[in-house]
Amino acid sequence: MINLRKYRQHLLTSAAAALLSVSAAAAPVNAASFMSAPPTPVSTGRLGTLLAGLVRCGVAPTEEVKTAASDPLTRTGFFFDTVITISLYDTDDETILDACDALMLECENRLSRTRENSDIWNINHAKGKPVEVSEETISLIQSAIKYCELSDGAFDITIAPVVSLWDFHMENDPAVPDADAIAEAVTHVDYTMIEIDDEKHTVALKDPEAGIDLGAIAKGYISDLLKEEILKHGSESALINLGGNVLAVGTKPDGSSWNIGIRRPFAESAYDLIAKVAVDDMSVITSGTYERYFEQDGVLYHHILDPFTGYSVNNGLTSVTILSKAGTDGDALSTTCFVLGPDKGMELIESLDGIEAMFVADDLTISYSSGWPQ
Ligand code: AMP
Ligand code: MG
Repeated sequence: MINLRKYRQHLLTSAAAALLSVSAAAAPVNAASFMSAPPTPVSTGRLGTLLAGLVRCGVAPTEEVKTAASDPLTRTGFFFDTVITISLYDTDDETILDACDALMLECENRLSRTRENSDIWNINHAKGKPVEVSEETISLIQSAIKYCELSDGAFDITIAPVVSLWDFHMENDPAVPDADAIAEAVTHVDYTMIEIDDEKHTVALKDPEAGIDLGAIAKGYISDLLKEEILKHGSESALINLGGNVLAVGTKPDGSSWNIGIRRPFAESAYDLIAKVAVDDMSVITSGTYERYFEQDGVLYHHILDPFTGYSVNNGLTSVTILSKAGTDGDALSTTCFVLGPDKGMELIESLDGIEAMFVADDLTISYSSGWPQ
């Protein structure tokens, strides 16, 4: 991670969502920050892939330089395959950003499916035996299971066997996996196979071939932890941007609302927004086909998967954006509603207090839930 003020080059951080007009004099999209060397060593190849990914998801390098007066204290890093930018608007205290770095590293080491000896890696490689994990991991898995139940398995965190067959990171030449392999993998997707012992702090997968993947909820959860950390250190005006998913802490320093832009699906420019929303102390999280995808034989394959078929969800939606107080709920619900589809998804949102949603269809028509701030 790197201090924005020490470097005068910026990247626009605006993937699914972009921060707008933080100050009156600011450019239309001004969540600008410098793309630093990541906190963990990154090879040139990986960085190249990252930069390619950034451009693709609307995060583009720019020459724009902001005035020092309007600059928040900002750092950008790379965790969970995601560009994460934290901007503090009411403090110069760099130790808060240091604490956030440490927290993100701890979360990645604990929750990553692919990082050896993370809690999730240990559960997935235990061949069905109970594995002792941290209380925090258990409580996140329990939160996730609530959404699995709420959606009758449309959201299912045991989707790892299917996820691992697909390559949406574009590091190699991605291709549609073998149909038999997908058919076999879906037989191991079943969240009821997760067995938790609250007293012993253990998690077991009753189906040893099953595997947990928290990719649909972890970023929201981490944004909530980062918010707690920031508040604990006395800052009350901040933006946490995890690859375009934004958790706004408090209000702008002058008490006005944050304006969050939601990127137009597949737009080449980070400035190309399909909607904006003014929020105070809220999370704005989007799940979209355009975030990670590849095309084969004229068909677009994206990273939000139907747990029953093992293939990308194809129900007329391009993206779902959720407004919620907690990022954990927003992240779980953005994926859940995407898989449920426009009708069932909206029905679910209308049944939940304090949650609003914006659904964008393939033809870019937008549907809002009844309480969406217009
Ligand atoms: P998101 O971008 O929050 O919608 O999360 C997408 C990620 O969640 C994917 O990259 C997978 O790791 C995982 N995932 C994909 N489909 C599902 C699903 N139906 N239920 C739970 N997690 C999923
Ligand atoms: Mg999600």
